Amino acid sequence: MTSHFFTRDGSTWMPQYLTAIDAMTCIGCGRCFKVCSREVMHLHGIDESGEILGACDGEDDDFDGELSRTIMVVDHAGRCIGCGACARVCPKNCQTHVAADKIVA
Ligand code: SF4
Ligand code: SF4
Repeated sequence: MTSHFFTRDGSTWMPQYLTAIDAMTCIGCGRCFKVCSREVMHLHGIDESGEILGACDGEDDDFDGELSRTIMVVDHAGRCIGCGACARVCPKNCQTHVAADKIVA
């Protein structure tokens, strides 16, 4: 994988890819999803034990009464362009980002 990235004016730029979100800390506020243009993460429901019940798609989002809370899940990590917008809006600092030259393909 290349480690050389550039902005339009030729300046060097190091993408910071979103690789994980801490399920214990995330409050499911949805801010990261709103600012991401790449559909990298989606809101999921979890039960009391922390088991993921599925994506919240607007239908049956209470998961037959099993829903305890919602968290954001990185379910399409490969779509990330490393812009860092999600990190700037997260109120819980629960995301992990890895520089493009450090990531394992
Ligand atoms: S770094 Fe940018 S592209 Fe990647 S998940 Fe965050 S907002 Fe989306
Ligand atoms: S902005 Fe942070 S706390 Fe809010 S859903 Fe995204 S990862 Fe979770």
